[in-house]
Amino acid sequence: MKLLLSEEERREALRRLPSVQRLLALPEVVEWIARYGRPLTLQALREELEDRRRRLAQGEEVATGPEEVLQGAEARLVAWTRPSLIPVINATGVILHTNLGRAPLSRATRLAMERVSQGYSNLEYDLERGKRGSRLVHAEDLLRRLSGAEAALAVNNNAGAVLLALSALAARRRVVIARSQLIEIGGGFRIPEIMQQSRARLVEVGTTNRVRLEDYAQALEAGASLVLYAHHSNFKIIGFTEEPSLTDLAALAHRYGVPLMADLGSGCFLNTERYGLEHEPTVQEVVAAGADVVTFSGDKLLGGPQAGLLVGRAEWIGRMKKHPLARALRADKTCLAGLNATLLHYLKDEAEREIPIWRMIALTPEQLRNTAQRWAEELGKGEVRPSHSTVGGGSLPGETLPTYVLALRPSHPTRFLHALRQANPPIIARLEEEAVVFDPRTVQPEEEGALLVVLKNLTASFR
Ligand SMILES: *Cc1c(COP(=O)(O)O)cnc(C)c1O
Repeated sequence: MKLLLSEEERREALRRLPSVQRLLALPEVVEWIARYGRPLTLQALREELEDRRRRLAQGEEVATGPEEVLQGAEARLVAWTRPSLIPVINATGVILHTNLGRAPLSRATRLAMERVSQGYSNLEYDLERGKRGSRLVHAEDLLRRLSGAEAALAVNNNAGAVLLALSALAARRRVVIARSQLIEIGGGFRIPEIMQQSRARLVEVGTTNRVRLEDYAQALEAGASLVLYAHHSNFKIIGFTEEPSLTDLAALAHRYGVPLMADLGSGCFLNTERYGLEHEPTVQEVVAAGADVVTFSGDKLLGGPQAGLLVGRAEWIGRMKKHPLARALRADKTCLAGLNATLLHYLKDEAEREIPIWRMIALTPEQLRNTAQRWAEELGKGEVRPSHSTVGGGSLPGETLPTYVLALRPSHPTRFLHALRQANPPIIARLEEEAVVFDPRTVQPEEEGALLVVLKNLTASFR
């Protein structure tokens, strides 16, 4: 309980509080002014003094020495200027962790983004002709080459890509989609709501678990301007199910003279079966199957910066480029530079080696066991045991990759997890069978040192 001061003591204490002028002359404060700027330093000092005066006026016993005041003011300065968005170590084993920023970027991608942000660039300038150019060209060639599509366009994210495509191709017209594909991706992306935003009219066909080509044909007979296929990114329908193949769906749509749009979500260019995962439809397969517009994210299985990519027939992509939403949703220069660098890894057949998420997917259980073993040895504690990693990010639902984790048994697991999150850098781990486990799959080699330092310190206080 704080002591209550007498009127006399209170006045005395108020007099003792240093003035702002006096504090400003102290060497610490001179240094703060250089580091944080004068206005912010002044504000911190004033608020700290004000706070102490108020508490004194209420009769609380409050320290009045310059040292205590400085301590309080510095805590304010540190809190105000601490960056809010900071790197964390992802030890969860969820590779595309949506809450942890999805795909980490390759070295070449990061360099390209930094280079283009340092100074000016030819973002919208044609160096050959010395005239205004288009920012759209920067990702276009590579996307066309890799996907096999006639044209391509990059926007800010895939939700935006879907909104743009529907707005440009189907506003006020009917769009046919299977009931089993009226998906919600999370973070507020729901196909029916995006449709509403784009003013397209939703025509649902089939049932929750089964849709046949005839269902689509009936709806197309009644008139429609687009057939939409949405990939079941984050869930599975099992049991008595049926959906026509994309090839059949494309042929049907074309018979009625309307385009088939496929919202793929994950944007995979490699064969996931090579890594023991279920087959994820690739962009090039879906284009080859006859889809006229394909949309996908830049930061899911593509492993690049946040972006929404559209590839397909020149006629439809051309319409989207001219739509006002294309301007509202345009990708910025760092995104375009990063996208270009990430796509180049695929062109040069080095994606598995250079793109972090593919490197993580490709890690073998033996490699992972060795890493977990090494961690256990360095810490002098913990058990190495088999577990599962997941791809995450709304792709390959239910699919897991075998891994080995380091399992620790601290005295208070949830408090330990909290302490890990408060560490510098924060470490995100998970609870599995009453142990706190760390999956080496999603910890990048350059993060291991920091991870082990934090673990050594914390395990000492959580015996
Ligand atoms: C993830 C996903 C989206 C949304 O993509 P963002 O890049 O997060 O905007 C849309 N459609 C599908 C099928 C998805 O999987």
